[in-house]
Formats: sequence, C-alpha cells, structure tokens
Amino acid sequence: MQQAVEQQDALAPYRRLTIKIGSALLVDGKTGKLRADWLASLAEDLAALKARGVSLVIVSSGAIALGRRLLGLDAKVLPLEQSQAAASAGQIALSQAWASALGKHDITTGQILLTPNITEERRYFLNARTTISTLLSLGAVPIINENDSVATAEIRYGDNDRLSARVATMIEADCLILLSDIDGLYTAPPAKDPNATHLPFVAAITPEIEAMAGGAASHLSRGGMTTKVEAGRIATQAGTGMIIAKGTENHPLQALMEGGRHTLFAPVETRAQARKRWIMGTLELKGAVHVDAGAARALGEGKSLLPIGVTRLAGDFERGEAVAIYDPDGREIARGLATLRRDEADLVKGKNSARATELLGIGTRSEMVHRDNMVVLMGLEAKV
Ligand code: GLU
Repeated sequence: MQQAVEQQDALAPYRRLTIKIGSALLVDGKTGKLRADWLASLAEDLAALKARGVSLVIVSSGAIALGRRLLGLDAKVLPLEQSQAAASAGQIALSQAWASALGKHDITTGQILLTPNITEERRYFLNARTTISTLLSLGAVPIINENDSVATAEIRYGDNDRLSARVATMIEADCLILLSDIDGLYTAPPAKDPNATHLPFVAAITPEIEAMAGGAASHLSRGGMTTKVEAGRIATQAGTGMIIAKGTENHPLQALMEGGRHTLFAPVETRAQARKRWIMGTLELKGAVHVDAGAARALGEGKSLLPIGVTRLAGDFERGEAVAIYDPDGREIARGLATLRRDEADLVKGKNSARATELLGIGTRSEMVHRDNMVVLMGLEAKV
C-alpha cells in the first residue's frame, strides 16, 4: 500500500511552481566549482515540466559559493564585505550557468535580484510581480536570487528558503519545492538522533513540528531545517503548498515525478479558496453565459462580468445560482454565481452599466457575475 502511494507523481497537481535550489547542490563543496552535470540533469527535468504546461520560477542560491573561488576567498566564514564581493562575482557565473543550461532546451531565462523591501512593500512588490508574470507569459523562466552584493544586514533575508517562500506567494504558486541536501522533515535532526523518522506529510505547522526542525545550517548555505519550516509557514499560510526534497542526485525533479521521498506541507485553505472550491465542485450548473472577447479578457484580469460583455444566454437561473461562462470560441472560461435572474439578464444583456441600472431599478446590483463569486478556469486566469 505504502509502495503504491510513494510511486505517485508528486508534481502532478501543480501548474505553477517555485523551485528553490540550494548552494550545496549547485556548487561542489570541495572544489568550489559548478556541478555542471547535475545542473544539466535538472535543466532536463525543468524542460519536461515546462513541456507539460507548468510555469516555473527558480530561486537559485550559489552566488557566494561560486564567487569565493573566482575571487580566491577561502576562509571558512567570510566577513560581510567579502561575501558581498563574492556574491557580486558569483552572480554573473550563476546567471550564465542557468542561461546556458536552460538555453540548451530553447528556454530563455531572466534574472531578478530581490531584497526584502521589494517583496514586502506594495509598490515594489507589484512591480516585481508584473515583471515575473510578463516573463512567464513570454515563456521565459525567471531566475531569482537575493541581491546579496548591496543588501545591508537590516534589509537582508540571508537565506533563500524564506526568500523563495515570499516569491512563491507573490506569484501565487501552487507549490514551493525546496531542493536541499535532506529528503524532508524528520521527527528530530537525523544527524543527532538515530531514531528519527521521516515525515511524508505535514498537515499544519504546529509548535511540535517547529521543534522537530531544530537543526543547524551547512557551511555553504545559511538555511537549516528551521528556516525551511519558517518558509513553510510563509508559503502555506498564503495557500501555497511546500515540498522539501533531496536534490543532490541527478534528475531531482524527475525523482519527485516518480514518487521519490519528500515531505509535503499542506497549504492552509483561505476562505476565498474554500468558496471557490465550493463554486467549482459542488454546485449544479443552471445556465450558460456567452461573452465577447473584451469580457473574456477582463475575467482573466480578475474583473467582474458586466452586462455589456454578454452576447447570449441559455438556461433558466435564479439569483445566486451557478452558471458557466463561455468565450466567443465556445470554451468554458469561468464559473460563477449569477447576480441576476435569467429574465433580468436578458433585459440588460449587451447594455452598459448605467443603462442596466436604469432598466433594473436603482438598488439592484447590475453586474452579471461578481468576481468574488467567480472561479476563472486555469490557463486563462491571470494569477499574477
Ligand atoms: N543568496 C545566497 C547566494 O546566492 C545564498 C543564500 C542561501 O543559500 O540561502 O549565494
């Protein structure tokens, strides 16, 4: 039974992934050189995921680790100014490595360097999100790291685990994958406790789970299990799941697609998500609303459906009943709860909002389907 569960493709449910790659995977700890064969195998996995329609955003560490060797800095712990210099030299090598590895699969990469203020201040956040979303819509893969060479101690994440969780929530990824040197969360740090057992699934991050994480960081990356669980808290609270998996062997994502060992942290369902799941899954459809191209686009941008965009109606529905919404090509693009009854909808179809209000009487809401009561189907939905 356990066998059957483990062989499932752990990545099958996801359409938008953020994948965090730790320094210890990309850079050989002894030589300080890029693990080029490993990166090539990962690039193959990423190309396979992209081919099945998954949007990918990579958060890659490794700048400091690569830059150390380039600048001949070999002290075990570097002073801040030297690690910032190492990040500066190493980031160029890191970007080149990614561009070349994914370039072999005809995938274009874009580099984005972030600091905490960018992910936390609304104006910067919206701008960064738009850049990432534009890259995704153009078929490129954004490669993100912290802007280590200029970030000061006060405005620094210092670890890419939490940075990647912010990125995942920023783009509303379905799942954040942390590829690291350990295959998930154990009941205690396995290096310290030989009786520690692996947890395949964490339903909620409780103080008990946090206590299990209490481990130390490796010398190349700052993040130990504690920062991974903190990342899990950021991600899951925003409705994004998180997977911790071991990435050291070649083809680490293929391993997950073949059911490789990992820990999955379940996302916390928000009220809005629960409502949308209810609209999608539970309700019987009572009608069909056909819309023009402009309205179809507006729904993709998260807007409500207004009468002016409605071209044709079918079925017999009351206020609050479920309807399917179709684009001019007859594809179902959304489902939602009708604000208007069928006869009211007929009256205002194709009319602008002022005219619709006149026809329906002041005090009646004149949109066809309000965005809060609508689920835009995957593919069209401008999630970012
Ligand atoms: N941003 C750092 C780098 O690229 C790594 C931080 C981390 O490993 O979490 O070298």
